[in-house]
Amino acid sequence: KQAQDKIKQLAFYDSLTGLPNRRLLHDRMTQAINQSTKNYSYVAVLMLDIDKFKTINDSLGHKAGDELIKHISRLLTKFVGSGNTVARLGADEFIVVLSSVKDIKEVVYFAENLLAQIRLPIEIEGGAVSVTTSMGVSLCPMDGDEGDDLLRCADLAMYHAKAEGRNNFQFYTREMNEKALAQLDIERRLKVAIQNNCFELYYQPQVDLKTNEITKAEALLRWTHPELGFVSPADFIPIAEESGIIIELGDWILQEACFQAREWHEAGLDIRVSVNVSSVQFKQTNLVDNVKNALELSELPKHLLELELTESAVMSDVEDNIGRLQMFKDMGIRIAVDDFGTGYSSLSYLKKFPIDTLKIDRSFIMDIDTNENDAAIVKAIMLLADTMQLNVVAEGVETLEQLRIIDNYGAQYIQGYFFSRPLPPAEFTKFVTEEFADKSTWKLDLIG
Ligand code: C2E
Ligand code: CA
Ligand code: CA
Repeated sequence: KQAQDKIKQLAFYDSLTGLPNRRLLHDRMTQAINQSTKNYSYVAVLMLDIDKFKTINDSLGHKAGDELIKHISRLLTKFVGSGNTVARLGADEFIVVLSSVKDIKEVVYFAENLLAQIRLPIEIEGGAVSVTTSMGVSLCPMDGDEGDDLLRCADLAMYHAKAEGRNNFQFYTREMNEKALAQLDIERRLKVAIQNNCFELYYQPQVDLKTNEITKAEALLRWTHPELGFVSPADFIPIAEESGIIIELGDWILQEACFQAREWHEAGLDIRVSVNVSSVQFKQTNLVDNVKNALELSELPKHLLELELTESAVMSDVEDNIGRLQMFKDMGIRIAVDDFGTGYSSLSYLKKFPIDTLKIDRSFIMDIDTNENDAAIVKAIMLLADTMQLNVVAEGVETLEQLRIIDNYGAQYIQGYFFSRPLPPAEFTKFVTEEFADKSTWKLDLIG
């Protein structure tokens, strides 16, 4: 048995690092390709080559060279996580196979982070050494759907990366490279924008139809870049999330919104601000502390803060989330579930969640006057909310007709262009104290 194990080890694994060798790699690639064909995802094959490895080997000796190889192999293994493969092909050549890739952006950030990790100085044979790598990336199905093709394309791309001055990664196709560059470009600009305070928060009123007042507003992030102009949060928030920038940005948003609400409170205007919390932020352990901190710094009464979490963020890891939401609840903060109806909700869990508000997604309101299914869904959500004693905000109400229907269904809070677009703070104040009076007579107008 031991001899058998030994033979297997020799046949499929590299003896220096214990990583899969070329033979096993082929099996793994085939598996990954089959799996991703089934679940409509991509496979990324990354070929990594240590820059100037020969120089290191010649100057520090083979032992140091081996140490370095082992170090990189450990780092890669740690970095790729389970379900993916790391293999060693030649002296200083490694292959990473990422399976079930849903979005190419994931590969871009993986490669970018990996380059940065590898660049960190390490201790070898008593001295500090820094190395860089060049990476080539091929994708299934774009560049091929067989292991050999993917390896060949990744290899060519890797030579391209060397030619580009090393310490970088290249996709096999030019189109993919351009996309990757655009992503990283936005990421870089976001970092600069945080440093230079280039973000603003706008506030969109939520009208309470029961009292005909504005007591709530959603804080929405705005970024105007000197060259790119206005960039929609729908475009840059996903990049901020994947690159981790959202953590720092989210903190700023939280504080800014709290200070603004406190300013309104001081002026005698009690507006509860609703702050969007990205799922990446929500999973972060110190979010509770950050929220506490923002409240303390701004001295905002706690009941004037609400956090908005998307339905899909809340409904993943349900058991964990109940506890997490309860902590906010215990602090006296409100919780709203955003984009309700677009994800999936377990109704039995919904009952257990300490939440206050459901925000019906705009996609259901949009065609509510023409699409019976949408109307039925909205009605059902309202009934559900009523039974569970939750508030409802109808989002994206643009026309009088939509408003009339929603009002008939008994919705209490309305957010949408019909009343107002998101506004900068000063304009928001003006809207609430002056302009809203004209708009709030819509019901009378309807009768009259
Ligand atoms: P969301 O949280 O669902 O925000 C509502 C979006 O609907 C906002 O788009 C708002 O301007 C828009 N909207 C409101 N009423 C109407 C209407 O009547 N018609 C139409 N066509 N649109 C309406 P916005 O500001 O472009 O934000 C897009 C998304 O970006 C947000 O969707 C949210 O997911 C994200 N986002 C915005 N600000 C933040 C933020 O501060 N933090 C985080 N994590 N995400 C944010
Ligand atoms: Ca929202
Ligand atoms: Ca929403």
